[in-house]
Amino acid sequence: MKNIIFVAPPAAGKGTQCELLVNKYGYHHLSTGDLLRNVDPSTEVGKKVHEVMSSGGLVDDELVFSLIKEHLLTLDYHKGVLFDGAIRTLKQVELYDQLCVDLNMDRGHVIFINISEERAMARSLGRLGCSSCGKIYHKVNMKPEVEGICDVCGGTLVSRDDDNEITFKNRFNTYLEKVEPVLDYYRNRNELITVEAMDNKMDTFAQIEEVLNND
Ligand SMILES: [Zn+2]
Repeated sequence: MKNIIFVAPPAAGKGTQCELLVNKYGYHHLSTGDLLRNVDPSTEVGKKVHEVMSSGGLVDDELVFSLIKEHLLTLDYHKGVLFDGAIRTLKQVELYDQLCVDLNMDRGHVIFINISEERAMARSLGRLGCSSCGKIYHKVNMKPEVEGICDVCGGTLVSRDDDNEITFKNRFNTYLEKVEPVLDYYRNRNELITVEAMDNKMDTFAQIEEVLNND
């Protein structure tokens, strides 16, 4: 499989799509955030990253991509990698291209998951969680059978919004402003594939599969 670089604003459902792709096609899911959080200080690059992070510093892009490279070398990366959160700036585009040259890896597809601010907000702010078993529901997309009650254990559902409206709007728009140059760059090269985030995750997945089927 060719690599996929995902660019997606908050609440577009990127994590869900990654999970579906991993399960059906055996992709390796590479989340830059997870890689940094779980950095292994026993490797050469991991040690450097660990040092920067434990001193409260920011890990610069070069170092992040060294870490990604080191990690990929431990995998059968030619089976296809989902890059989640790796590319948000033009500098990272450059580093990714270099990584592909270094590892003799096809650059793959750049997929933008599009969602309107209103829908993203409705999704993000409607989450409910069971206070007993932790199962997650949603006021609109995944309602329990009886309002306020967990289908599985009968526990009480409580709001699990991480954000209020203003915080969410800020997070959403800041992300889009940040990635706009990256989207433009790939758009100008006719390499940007846009899929729409649908209410049913399988409808979004179908659009992604269409891209893969055209390879
Ligand atoms: Zn429950």
